[in-house]
Formats: sequence, structure tokens, C-alpha cells
Amino acid sequence: MSVSGLPPYDPANIFARILRGEIPCKRVHEDEWALAFHDINPLTPTHVLVIPKGEWVSAADFHAGATAEAIAGFWRAVAAVAKALGLEAPGYRILSNMGGDGGQEVPHFHVHVFGGRPLGRMVRAGG
Ligand code: 5GP
Repeated sequence: MSVSGLPPYDPANIFARILRGEIPCKRVHEDEWALAFHDINPLTPTHVLVIPKGEWVSAADFHAGATAEAIAGFWRAVAAVAKALGLEAPGYRILSNMGGDGGQEVPHFHVHVFGGRPLGRMVRAGG
């Protein structure tokens, strides 16, 4: 069991397979700590996923278990991706779904980077 109450890390999850190069992705950034690639089903004009290279199920899992260096490296990569995509000046949104109520589908910690248009309110009532 991971710290978030989710099942233990499954190395067969889709993002693990992308990290291992078994499944292609449209890569936008890669460094020692993170890989970033376009979401296969973009919800906004720019919709990129940033994933750490370690085996972490969720945000809770990652922040409880990763080294400070890995956590800093990951979040620096998120900021670098947004900047490289030209989102810094107009603005953007970062979001991470966690667990059942959070709507997390892929059990490898990831951050969504949304941008390319005004994004409106953060969460709408009822959905
Ligand atoms: P979650 O709900 O777990 O936060 O979001 C998972 C995201 O991964 C979804 O936005 C979904 O479109 C994206 N996704 C699922 N499978 C693939 C894939 O094989 N390749 C890419 N690039 N994105 C994927």
C-alpha cells in the first residue's frame, strides 16, 4: 500500500511504459528528474503532463518518499516546461489528481500543465 492508500506502484502502468520507451510520447522536456510530454487527449490548447522518473504512485507518495533533491528537480522541471511552452506570460494552471475522489486514472504521480486560453474558474460546482 502506498502512503495515499492506493495500491503499490505498478511498473506496468502506462506512464512507466512511456518512461521506459516502450510506448511513444510527444516529448517536450526531459532531464534527470522528470519527463514531460503532450497529453494524448488534450483538454486545452496546451496540455502537457510532467512525471517524475521515480516510481511514485501519487502526489502524497512522492512528497512523503522522494528526496528533497528529486522533489526540487521535479518542480523545477514543471516550471521550465511552462516557460518553454510560452505559458509564463499569459499564465497557466498546474493540477495533480490524487486517488479516487481526485479522479486519478494513471497510478504514476503526474502534474497536468494547462494553458493556451483563459481557463476560467478552478472547479465548477458539481463537476
Ligand atoms: P489523471 O486522471 O490520471 O490525472 O490523468 C491521466 C492523463 O493521462 C489523462 O489526461 C489522459 O488523457 C492521459 N493519458 C492516458 N494515457 C496516455 C498515453 O498513453 N499517452 C499520453 N500522452 N497521455 C495519456
